[in-house]
Amino acid sequence: EAKDAGRNTSVFFDDDLQTRLNTRLEMQRELHRGIVENELELFYQTKVNCQQTCVGVEALVRWFHPVKGMISPVDFISIAEQSGDILLLGKWVMHTACETLVAWSNDPIRSDWTMSVNVSVRQLKADNFVAEVTQCLQDTGAPANKLILEITESMLLGNTESIIVKMQALRSIGVRFALDDFGTGYSNLSYLQRLPLDQLKIDRSFVSTNQDQATAGLAQPQLTQSIISLGKTLGLIVVAEGVETKAQFEALTSQGCDIFQGFHFSQPTRLNALPQPNKK
Ligand code: C2E
Ligand code: MG
Ligand code: MG
Ligand code: MG
Repeated sequence: EAKDAGRNTSVFFDDDLQTRLNTRLEMQRELHRGIVENELELFYQTKVNCQQTCVGVEALVRWFHPVKGMISPVDFISIAEQSGDILLLGKWVMHTACETLVAWSNDPIRSDWTMSVNVSVRQLKADNFVAEVTQCLQDTGAPANKLILEITESMLLGNTESIIVKMQALRSIGVRFALDDFGTGYSNLSYLQRLPLDQLKIDRSFVSTNQDQATAGLAQPQLTQSIISLGKTLGLIVVAEGVETKAQFEALTSQGCDIFQGFHFSQPTRLNALPQPNKK
């Protein structure tokens, strides 16, 4: 932040900036300690198909700070990215998610569920990314064909070729890829066609509105329809995130969306609080 400011203005550290820097550095130190001391926990949010049957989960990390309580990834992922601790954090997330897959491998229903894991740009760009994921699958014994890695459009800026090579290597052992938050970033449609993707996730800003209304329809129905059509044209499975109402679910279903995720179905929850698989 200081560097960014420095490009346009002459640099002088006022008290405010100094305080902000101290806080950020302090957060970086705290987060590092928290990772080492096992304060991270994975929550899981279910994903359902058109029949509202669960087909998988997305792993979403939380930080339980001894004093501050639960901290959202929105408030610490960027700090981890800045400090480089995202590599340590990402490795822990991948390992923990794979262990959960293994724990489900003998469950009559959950053994079919996929596990989606968010991957950050620094992880994907690291030279050992493919080796690390492969090693993680080997160490845990998790089935590669249940693992879906979620990447975002902004990761594709620059270095696209080497990212495609890594994606192909992982896909050759069965790992799948989803493009997360689609429509909000840098949309280069020619990239989209070249990327070895399996799923396209419509960003939740097109799905749900900010109003707290149980009957609310889609926030941007023309855009969700366009994204679904685009996904289908490219042969991808289309996933909608942020589905908060029945009306949104029904509208997306009639637009051809395949998989749905959101508060209408379930909140992200602790592993042991996931819905019991009973009814079909
Ligand atoms: P994301 O991957 O797009 O995950 C979806 C976010 O939307 C989650 O927020 C989820 O709780 C929230 N959400 C789900 N359904 C609804 C809904 O119906 N309405 C609304 N308003 N929100 C909904 P969360 O858990 O706070 O995570 C935020 C972001 O943090 C994630 O966005 C992802 O980019 C990042 N993140 C989370 N876990 C990890 C991780 O392990 N590694 C990395 N690199 N990033 C992570
Ligand atoms: Mg995601
Ligand atoms: Mg998303
Ligand atoms: Mg999102």
